[in-house]
Amino acid sequence: MKSIWNQTCQIPGRNSLPGNLDTEIAVIGGGLAGILTAFYLTMEGRQVIVLEASSTGSGQTSGTTAKITSQHGLIYQKLLTDLGETAAKLYARSNQEAVADYEQLISSRRISCSFEKKPAFLYTMDQPDAIHLETLAARRAGIPALEVTETSLPFSVKRAVRFPDQACFQPLKFLEALSSSVTVFEHTPVTSVKDHVLSTPHGQVTARKIVFACHYPFPLIPGYFFLRMYQDQSYVVALEGAPALDGMYLGIDPDGLSLRQADPWLLLGGQGRRVGIQKPDPYGALDSRARQLFPGAKTALKWSAQDCVTLDSLPYIGRFSRRKPDWYVATGFGKWGMTLSMVSARMLTDLICGQQSPYESLYSPSRFRLRPSAPRLAVHGAESAKGLIKGMANGVMRCPHMGCRLTWNAAESTWDCPCHGSRFDRLGRLITGPAQISCRRHRLIP
Ligand SMILES: Cc1cc2nc3c(=O)[nH]c(=O)nc-3n(C[C@H](O)[C@H](O)[C@H](O)COP(=O)(O)OP(=O)(O)OC[C@H]3O[C@@H](n4cnc5c(N)ncnc54)[C@H](O)[C@@H]3O)c2cc1C
Repeated sequence: MKSIWNQTCQIPGRNSLPGNLDTEIAVIGGGLAGILTAFYLTMEGRQVIVLEASSTGSGQTSGTTAKITSQHGLIYQKLLTDLGETAAKLYARSNQEAVADYEQLISSRRISCSFEKKPAFLYTMDQPDAIHLETLAARRAGIPALEVTETSLPFSVKRAVRFPDQACFQPLKFLEALSSSVTVFEHTPVTSVKDHVLSTPHGQVTARKIVFACHYPFPLIPGYFFLRMYQDQSYVVALEGAPALDGMYLGIDPDGLSLRQADPWLLLGGQGRRVGIQKPDPYGALDSRARQLFPGAKTALKWSAQDCVTLDSLPYIGRFSRRKPDWYVATGFGKWGMTLSMVSARMLTDLICGQQSPYESLYSPSRFRLRPSAPRLAVHGAESAKGLIKGMANGVMRCPHMGCRLTWNAAESTWDCPCHGSRFDRLGRLITGPAQISCRRHRLIP
């Protein structure tokens, strides 16, 4: 299903890879993370190409709500408890810098992408203490957060925390402008990577450095990302005729909503869940909240997207693995890939150009921190084991990634993998990875 971003921007197409090619740097993936990384490397005078399986911006970036903010749920409280004040400060600083980098880039290059500065709010109806603690934690991390009880939401909240000077934009218009300075080959899926050689259906690319910005890095070994990440999906409806809303909002309660204005629409998001775990009628649930909150408004468009979630809530940005010193990765954005794509692009550019980054250790893909990872590790391990065991039965739809049993998603008529989040259309054709190929046709319609 297409989003409002697809409705209001068609990025001009590019050719496929014309044949074998040598380059200094190959970036896999033409989403926000890949294009931003390729852009900054190109600006440093590096020879860079982007290999994109489909078309620029066609991945999860086209389904985002595009809030550019350092406010990522209750993250600061968690970081302070799990990793201490230095880590919380680094996280805040890297994301606040990313907001400023967007503003600087968009204004210096005069990019027309509906960029607007706005405050971001986290709100609650029944956990005021959690908001209070998050306000204190964000302030300790260096963000001038403010606790409030009045917002412009059409319902009263118990408490909210306000981050000033955040932003939002039209992500595809931004990508369209930025990608015009970058060499991109579209409809060129990378099917395998061996040391410095990337294979595609149109030829091989030999690159000195390789960046995996393909949402979910697909090599199983090294890296073992499949043990350390799962995917979470959320649903969005775009409302027509709703009163304009000041600021951007996210509810922290189980039925909390994400809200932002994207003229002429009001975006309402929610119903998040692990890919493959079905919720009855998520669009219907959002529609009925919309009718309740904004009587008179009507749903103009609806879509969903998904993102990779790591065990300790921090993204993996940096060297892919100690065993592959020339491979780099940017993934695990946990639904906060607008600022984190910018953080990735800046960090990877520094690392590839031989500079150090102050954020290298915080986001290191080689880290393993047991305490903050333990709760999600247990759930992820159990879900993956369940999916793998069920995948051994005869006559079931199986994911080509690792053989897990696929579940039928009636809301979107897709086959979804509860283990690692690959998705396929009703005929088993690949929609999104980590799987790289379509399913064998065991059984089509449930
Ligand atoms: C509902 C929802 C709302 C969100 N809202 C926000 C928000 O308000 N603010 C925020 O900060 N974040 C938000 N996010 C998160 C954000 O949208 C993502 O983190 C971000 O778009 C990810 O960008 P990406 O470049 O990593 O991935 P993608 O945009 O998916 O790009 C990856 C690209 O790689 C390509 N690819 C994959 N495999 C291969 C291959 N083998 N060869 C070549 N190319 C390949 C794909 O085709 C794709 O184009 C939201 C997420 C969801 C699910």
